[in-house]
Amino acid sequence: YATNFSTAMEGLLSTYPSVQKAMGSSEKIFEYMERMPQISPPGTLAPPALRGHLQVQDVWFSYPSREDTPVLKGVSLELHPGEVTALVGPSGAGKTTLVALLERFYEPQHGRLLLDGRDLRDYEHHYLHSKVPPATPASSNHKIPPDPSPCDFITPLSPPPDVGEMGGQISGGQRQGVAIARALLRNPRVLILDDATSALDTESQLQVEKEIYEGVRAGRSVLLIAHRLSAVERADRILVLEDGEIREQGTHWELLACQGSYWHLVQKQLNGDEEGSSRDSVE
Ligand code: ATP
Repeated sequence: YATNFSTAMEGLLSTYPSVQKAMGSSEKIFEYMERMPQISPPGTLAPPALRGHLQVQDVWFSYPSREDTPVLKGVSLELHPGEVTALVGPSGAGKTTLVALLERFYEPQHGRLLLDGRDLRDYEHHYLHSKVPPATPASSNHKIPPDPSPCDFITPLSPPPDVGEMGGQISGGQRQGVAIARALLRNPRVLILDDATSALDTESQLQVEKEIYEGVRAGRSVLLIAHRLSAVERADRILVLEDGEIREQGTHWELLACQGSYWHLVQKQLNGDEEGSSRDSVE
């Protein structure tokens, strides 16, 4: 794992020469990663070894403000170590909601979330967040508190850009680079990438995707949520979430052959009429 991880990090970080500088600046993502969940008391489980086998079993969920409108309706899925599982679907399908449940910001009204066979509720909070950190893009113009994590691993290959007087003037792409690098520094067993590369330029996106498929996935489960469907073509399994339900699952080619929901999403994106296509271009 160590070699693969280090190769993946080197490749990833060569794409973000300003990461070291950015790591010391302030951003919203850090708040997001550190915030405490609004749920029942966390458990105490913190095993020395973890595989990263994650199971979602028949999960139903409604937001407290809309209890009569389930957002997730009996969702089941499984993430296996060493594999990239992609989750796609139209806007509002419930993808980010599922991530929020995996991070324990909410609890499902029905169903179970298991990590290596144990309920997520059994794990100690900080342990869980170090093993299942999000790499979610931050909204712009927010501050991140200084981070005590081991920045020594980061060696920029070229001088960082001018980050401004307050140290907060980094671009959306750089911000996403920081989020991914920071999540990887924790050497997590489950890596969740929720639309994590959308602000990167095309070359950087392709570089990060290459690292995800060829290096980062070794020894961990990866959940890749992407609006730009070309990013998920190489996934071991693609799950299509629509209106809170997993409607299809299979590889890119299997799902194209079905000419079902995934095929329709691809066609829409190719035609440029999917809402995500304005954010993420199709190569
Ligand atoms: P996108 O691709 O646009 O990010 P998504 O598939 O991630 O969409 P979610 O953000 O999970 O979809 O939203 C699913 C549904 O839950 C939507 O109808 C949304 O309006 C609703 N929703 C999201 N967050 C909340 C919230 N905090 N309170 C109430 N409803 C919410």
